[in-house]
Amino acid sequence: MAQFFDEEVWGQALKQPDWYLLIGPEYKQLKELREKADAQTSQAIKRDVLKFFEERLERGEVALATEGEDLDAERKAIDTVVIHHTSAKPGYSLKQMNVTHLLNIYAPYFANPYVPGEGHLKGQPIWSNHIQGGKPVFYAYHWLLRMDGTAERLLDDSQIGWHAGSWEVNCRSIGICLDNDYEESSPKPEVLDQLAELIRINYAGIEAGRVIGHRAVNPKTTCPGNEFLDGWQKELLRRLDN
Ligand SMILES: [Zn+2]
Repeated sequence: MAQFFDEEVWGQALKQPDWYLLIGPEYKQLKELREKADAQTSQAIKRDVLKFFEERLERGEVALATEGEDLDAERKAIDTVVIHHTSAKPGYSLKQMNVTHLLNIYAPYFANPYVPGEGHLKGQPIWSNHIQGGKPVFYAYHWLLRMDGTAERLLDDSQIGWHAGSWEVNCRSIGICLDNDYEESSPKPEVLDQLAELIRINYAGIEAGRVIGHRAVNPKTTCPGNEFLDGWQKELLRRLDN
């Protein structure tokens, strides 16, 4: 049983299309609590929330839209690649990523649709326009690059990933996430080789100068880590030049 919230109450809320408004204040409180708590408590809260949502999502017990408007209609020609990292240890599960992006990207947007003309989305069941295996998915990135070199495809290039923190950039970019925590370290040479190969094979037409880190678009984040700008960005670009 969850320790930090009432599963019964949240479970009931999840059946409502506007569940993210119903549990929003409590979810926000838990987030604030995590920031103040010690590392162990913070992890315990995170585990509670993720486990709860992963299970409910799996069982189809989260009210979500099964159809909606074409949120990919504004997709532009792709001219930018944005690099991210998970800022977690390798082996990030896709289930966890799906839930995390639902809760941290899609739910806040539907709770506060700040794009002009989209105010009507508030309170509506969440819709991503991205269906896989008959189920909606909420991945923000197009690719997740594993440490063994496997590149997992999360979104189609024709789909807009909500990853950069700017709609304008999202519309014309690809999001590639490295499955590791590079907050204070750099990818190994072989990971950079694999990343360069992924970009070369799939996005050959993109200028090297348009391969950027998340932080270049959104100054509020340090993603993909503190050693990117004066370090491994150059290493990556050098590989793309060859
Ligand atoms: Zn990022």
